[in-house]
Amino acid sequence: MIKITVGVLALQGAFYEHVVLLKKAAASLALEQVSSSHWEFLEVRTPQELERCNALVLPGGESTAISLVAARSNMLEPLRDFVKVHRKPTWGTCAGLILLAESANRTKKGGQDLIGGLDVRVNRNHFGRQTESFQAPLELPFLTSSGEPQPPFPAVFIRAPVVEKILPHHEGVQVDESQRGETVVAPSRQAESEAARKAMSRDVEVLASLPGRAARLATEGKSIDADEETGDIIAVRQGNVFGTSFHPELTGDERIHSWWLRQVEESVKRMQ
Ligand code: GLN
Repeated sequence: MIKITVGVLALQGAFYEHVVLLKKAAASLALEQVSSSHWEFLEVRTPQELERCNALVLPGGESTAISLVAARSNMLEPLRDFVKVHRKPTWGTCAGLILLAESANRTKKGGQDLIGGLDVRVNRNHFGRQTESFQAPLELPFLTSSGEPQPPFPAVFIRAPVVEKILPHHEGVQVDESQRGETVVAPSRQAESEAARKAMSRDVEVLASLPGRAARLATEGKSIDADEETGDIIAVRQGNVFGTSFHPELTGDERIHSWWLRQVEESVKRMQ
């Protein structure tokens, strides 16, 4: 039996809810006899705690606050090493997705530090303010790999970002992005091994999008092109790094957590 330690970055935001749902997911994997791993879940606030982790969740909250506290507690560099140098499995929800993006739009003045790891540009607060939060039933095809039809996933969007552009992979920093105004880019890091390098250069997969963007633009009188017909991109994966715009930890529905733990388990086994 392998022991897998999953950390949840606990500097700010909805970290406790993630821990609860991760435990629930691990219990259901054990019950269904899908996983025989021994899972440990850990709130992470220090580099020493991060070091113990095989995988990490970056919760929703406020990305500016999370990066500020991370910088002050000397966590930014260890986090970049975790994601970009060692390429360990990492999942960011909402603010966490912003931190994992290589490029982010509309950052507050003074900027904010990104961790990076996903070759995407995100638009922060794409869906408006706190009062414009909403819940949408989502079809998530990646959850239906078993072939059995699944009920839609109740996705909660709170000042949620959207992936507005998939970027081509660069070995270093995203140069073109760094030249845009009002954009912040993540610093580059060298992957430690050939396997990590390969994982870094994997294509970004779009795992889910929210329909309705084309219709919304049409009602606003804006022109629609084929790209926009695909809807707003709200879940992506690039190798070991996974990001969702919404908050699966606020629903009590552990399906995405279970799916991700299975990905983590496979990855840990591959790395052994
Ligand atoms: N828009 C927020 C940010 O910039 C994220 C919101 C959230 O995590 N619910 O950090």
